[in-house]
Amino acid sequence: STGLMHGKRGLIMGLANDKSIAWGIAQALAEQGAELALTYQGEAFRKRAVPLAERLGVTQLYDCDVTDTASLDAVFDGLSEAWGKMDFVVHAIGFSDKSELRGRYVDTSAENFRMTMDISVYSFTAVCQRAEKLMTDGGACLTLTYYGAEKVMPHYNVMGIAKSALETSVQYLAEDLGKKNIRVNAISAGTIKTLAASGIGDFRYIMKWNELNSPLRRTVTQEEVGKSALYLLSDLSSAVTGEVHHVDAGYHVVGMKAVDAPDI
Ligand code: NAD
Repeated sequence: STGLMHGKRGLIMGLANDKSIAWGIAQALAEQGAELALTYQGEAFRKRAVPLAERLGVTQLYDCDVTDTASLDAVFDGLSEAWGKMDFVVHAIGFSDKSELRGRYVDTSAENFRMTMDISVYSFTAVCQRAEKLMTDGGACLTLTYYGAEKVMPHYNVMGIAKSALETSVQYLAEDLGKKNIRVNAISAGTIKTLAASGIGDFRYIMKWNELNSPLRRTVTQEEVGKSALYLLSDLSSAVTGEVHHVDAGYHVVGMKAVDAPDI
């Protein structure tokens, strides 16, 4: 095939179903000729992941729980064996107990704080650590973040603190890996109705608020996040690293409710 990603091989982590941001990115990359490996988490998601992988002709499909170091190592051992090297990795993984994605941040438990940081922040560093060894011709790493890292959003709570740490880790990773021509970036995506998002309190209201108040007066799609991921993972962005790129219909620049927005 031809295309922007022709000859490039990479891993996309965090495929839950066909609503996943990981799936939007996988489609955009495959369309441009990338060769992909995919991960899902746990047996329950296997039956959804298998037909999606087949649709893109992906044969390397791994069950990976990032809290289980052995399963993470197994993915990269598999890639090392199959490909020897890799060009990109996408981390589309986040988790917090949904009982703490409502109410007050101040009430967060130590246990859920640690778990949220481990799964949603440290795992990206753990992934980059392993990817570095296989990115022998340089490469690109990408994670997904949200505006709740920058400003207080209702119910986002501990996940906002985690995304803030994730965005800062993008900067430190960019510095460390830049010497090897490995770029590290994040997409700050607008609200999309996915499995993870449905755990957030009043998510429908937040979606509607974004639609009524973003400069483009709409929300964004997983295909649009996919297209921006294509830019950040391809040579089109060869001088871009340490960046948090907003794909949010412009919501992050708005300081006030739009005058034409009705009350919701
Ligand atoms: P999703 O539910 O489709 O994907 C989340 C993925 O995280 C799932 O595949 C899940 O299996 C995986 N995951 C959770 N715990 C894991 C673990 N211990 N080990 C391995 N995988 C684990 O939802 P999504 O919205 O596509 O989420 C992808 C990323 O995008 C997340 O980081 C999320 O915070 C971010 N994001 C989402 C939105 C949105 O509105 N949907 C906006 C901005 C950022």
